Amino acid sequence: MPTVVVTGGAGFLGSHLCERFLNEGMKVFAVDNLCTGRLANIEHLGANENFHFSKQNVSDHILIPGEVDYILHFASPASPIDYLQLPIQTLKVGALGTHNVLGLAKAKGARILLASTSEVYGDPLVHPQKEDYWGNVNPIGPRGVYDEAKRFAEAITMAYHRTHGVQTRIVRIFNTYGPRMRIKDGRALPNFFRQALKGEDVTVYGDGSQTRSFCYVSDLMEGIYRLLMSNESDPVNIGNPEEISLKDVAEEVVRLTGSKSRIIYEPLPVDDPKVRKPDTTRAEKILGWKAVVPRTEGLKKTLDYFKQELGLS
Ligand code: UDP
Repeated sequence: MPTVVVTGGAGFLGSHLCERFLNEGMKVFAVDNLCTGRLANIEHLGANENFHFSKQNVSDHILIPGEVDYILHFASPASPIDYLQLPIQTLKVGALGTHNVLGLAKAKGARILLASTSEVYGDPLVHPQKEDYWGNVNPIGPRGVYDEAKRFAEAITMAYHRTHGVQTRIVRIFNTYGPRMRIKDGRALPNFFRQALKGEDVTVYGDGSQTRSFCYVSDLMEGIYRLLMSNESDPVNIGNPEEISLKDVAEEVVRLTGSKSRIIYEPLPVDDPKVRKPDTTRAEKILGWKAVVPRTEGLKKTLDYFKQELGLS
């Protein structure tokens, strides 16, 4: 039975990964320091004898007994308000944490997949974003702690691949949504759902003309699984290329929830990217993957989850 280590295993994406790999018949070691992850996300896996959780900070040291076949490095604050509140932890987990997981991969002879991000493209000057675009990042701006940590993480991952022959994979994840997002993680969809369901004002930042492309979590999981099992060591974008303005997303959420909330406009955060849309040609060619869950369907499932979280169903 193959063994997989998931760092950030109690987080939004990490917990979905644990579930996916258990369903593939693997033994899963989830590691998390719970700074943004939550035990509630993995509670339902506790009864599975192939699932193990250990509270560790991967920026300090990682201790995993026995053999390891795969490592998925997903530990990091990932929502803008989280990494603004935890700037040094964010830099450390991207740099020291990634160094430690690469060392673990080397010691165990394991294949490692790094969770990178569309944030490596910064406020992009090329649209849509292809993997060969080097990005437009402000290194000293407030978002730089996340963007540069992930850019460093990619660099050290490639260095371990080239220098030590470690089998590495890099996924550049675009905006993803679905059950287990924290209702107060500050990202657009959790905010919009929470505000609309509670009848509060829905806060669109800026004039709402900035765009994002939202991918439902099950699509992302499939893309990650296929990338891990592939031979591709160059970065691969995984995301849904359907682009929408934030104003339109806010209106969709208000309509879907049947809310009477008003949409109000607040200042745009510093360095907020104006556009974002993945070019997924590489994923389609190499992995035979593309997003299949339409936003209407994904948003409905997400609505059910947020209702439950707020005790409304
Ligand atoms: N945003 C917004 N209202 C909110 C939260 C976010 O208009 O209550 C905007 C934010 O300024 C950005 C977009 O939604 O333009 C996506 O933000 P998010 O925090 O979800 O992630 P990002 O894509 O910026 O990493």
